[in-house]
Amino acid sequence: MQKYLKKLYKNSKDNYYKELDKDLKNKKKRFIITVNPETLMMSEKDEELKNILDSNYSFVPDGIAVVKAARKLNINVSERITGIDIAEHLLNVANTNKYSMYLFGAKEDVIQELVEKIKKEYKNIKLLGFSNGYVDDKEKIMEDIVKLNPDICMVALGIPYQEKLIYKHFDKAKKGIYIGVGGSFDVLSGSKKRAPKIFIKLNLEWFYRIITEPKRLKRFWNSNVKFMFKIKKKSYKKS
Ligand code: UDP
Repeated sequence: MQKYLKKLYKNSKDNYYKELDKDLKNKKKRFIITVNPETLMMSEKDEELKNILDSNYSFVPDGIAVVKAARKLNINVSERITGIDIAEHLLNVANTNKYSMYLFGAKEDVIQELVEKIKKEYKNIKLLGFSNGYVDDKEKIMEDIVKLNPDICMVALGIPYQEKLIYKHFDKAKKGIYIGVGGSFDVLSGSKKRAPKIFIKLNLEWFYRIITEPKRLKRFWNSNVKFMFKIKKKSYKKS
């Protein structure tokens, strides 16, 4: 687990955004993996996900738990960089520079609402296509996306499906930023509310998500709580 925390992006969010902007300008390719306790805990039982984490893609600290865990193990990660923040940045930068984009994931009404919003508020984005995330043949959609060669591809299918799907097809991509953004389309479309700013500022976004969606509690226990115990044990052994 420590070796994965070591691979996290350590600099500030602004610097990370600058790297993304540069990649887009130079038509480079990048696969962004948002690392949170769920990703790390799942990888212990999921060989394919473990292979992804063993790769050299672009890992960002998605959440306060991984930032704190890294620091506990003397890995100096400066701040959290969440999937939804990156998604918002990509929408803005794509709008400013007329970049092309493909959106894959979420329920049909959610993706429709998001597309409407993009057409209204991000008029300059070249939307090459979109699909809900409940189609039978997700591989085919991903193959088509790669052929369309977008500057940006956001996949919102949840962990670990989004990462696995991108991983399988990313080699064939000529350029583009590919990222799994989890439930971001639900929030960006306006179907779900993101936590109020004060929760975000106090690093309590996870708490807001639990109180507004109590069914998340089990997931939280199995990922975050078990993860924290694991890190505590590791740092205790070190000291
Ligand atoms: N989803 C999907 N297809 C599926 C399963 C899930 O498109 O087969 C979508 C779901 O509608 C939601 C996202 O994937 O928009 C997962 O959201 P969740 O809040 O669970 O992700 P998190 O942000 O917690 O990683």
